[in-house]
Amino acid sequence: MEKFDVVIVGAGPSGIGMCSMLKDFGVESMTVIDKGKVGETFDKWPEEMRFITPSFTTNFWGHMDLNSIAVGTSPAFTLETEHPTGKEYAKYLRTLAEHFELPIKENTEVENVEYSNNHFTINIKNGSPIKSTYLIWAAGEYQYPDLNAFSGSQLCMHNSTVKTWKEIKGDDFYVIGGNESGIDAAINLSRMGKKVTVLDEKENPDAKITDPSETLTPYTVDRLMDEIAYDRITLVADTKVDEIKFENDNYIITNERDDSTYTTKSKPILATGFVSSLSMVKDLFDWHESDSYALLNEHDESRKTPGLFLVGPQVRHEDLILCFIYKYRQRFGVVANAIGDRLGMDTSFLDQYREEGLYKDDLGACGEECPC
Ligand SMILES: Cc1cc2nc3c(=O)[nH]c(=O)nc-3n(C[C@H](O)[C@H](O)[C@H](O)COP(=O)(O)OP(=O)(O)OC[C@H]3O[C@@H](n4cnc5c(N)ncnc54)[C@H](O)[C@@H]3O)c2cc1C
Repeated sequence: MEKFDVVIVGAGPSGIGMCSMLKDFGVESMTVIDKGKVGETFDKWPEEMRFITPSFTTNFWGHMDLNSIAVGTSPAFTLETEHPTGKEYAKYLRTLAEHFELPIKENTEVENVEYSNNHFTINIKNGSPIKSTYLIWAAGEYQYPDLNAFSGSQLCMHNSTVKTWKEIKGDDFYVIGGNESGIDAAINLSRMGKKVTVLDEKENPDAKITDPSETLTPYTVDRLMDEIAYDRITLVADTKVDEIKFENDNYIITNERDDSTYTTKSKPILATGFVSSLSMVKDLFDWHESDSYALLNEHDESRKTPGLFLVGPQVRHEDLILCFIYKYRQRFGVVANAIGDRLGMDTSFLDQYREEGLYKDDLGACGEECPC
């Protein structure tokens, strides 16, 4: 059985960013494993979907590109675009993995993880298990859509399964969920001349909130405003879908709030989110009473299983949701520090990452609302 000090599951931005830092730090016994290729998730994005967070070559003046995950790299510089597509961003990740010669095992799918005697046994589908002392979970959420959001949701098409909006048949669509993915679907369908109604449960979707995790980003608002001018998109608030039925060739969508219904011949589009890869290792974490996020200590480590760390968009500390790259990359240093300390390494090396925005151990200053 192969053994490592550190195994990272997932070669997306979280896993590749974390591995680049640990390699730079001097961790030698380490591997990243991915069920597909580096950047696999981004290959699966709909062809038309682009990054909502902008990339810019700000590195030169000491501010990392918002979508960068390793010091001295910038997607804007490598890809020469502000809002990369999934395929473009996957290219950035692969360029990095090659440039930094990261130790990666592709086409290696984790089936489950066992923990005993302070070690992890990572069981691989059709392969030999791998042992590690520390496990960094970076398997993301995109490849684990929530297909059971409400009764009949299995009748819908989840937005993450769409390869290109060009392939979708029909003229009149309902999108369930009005966050970034749902509005992106509506914009792309409208651009192809289709009519779209977006149903969203928020009572006041126009509420102004500073955190882009809780509100539409400027990039999406701009695109939405451009498209709304063509009168093909309808936004309906205060609509919590609790059931969809298929009867007489029609989909009937019911709103729990007032029992009203919508009828359509086109398969509804589900943009209500993901169960996340954490569903695979759920028992190794304690969960918040709402069951919606894993409880972590100050090192972003499971409160239940010592040595199991979480990096990526699922990291959450009470009201702070670290779902964008520019947010969660700031915790790479925290995880590296905890592991380095336990491996007996000199962790002062990591201090340089503070200035780069890759090591933020004090989250106290986050969460400020902008006065204007
Ligand atoms: C629609 C959408 C748009 C987004 N847009 C932005 C944006 O514009 N800007 C931004 O900062 N963030 C954005 N995000 C947030 C996004 O989640 C992250 O930026 C990013 O994809 C998360 O990176 P990750 O490495 O944690 O996960 P992923 O990129 O999903 O990588 C996880 C990796 O783990 C592998 N894996 C999964 N399961 C297993 C397994 N069982 N065994 C082995 N390997 C496995 C996968 O193949 C994959 O390569 C967006 C999210 C969504 C859903």
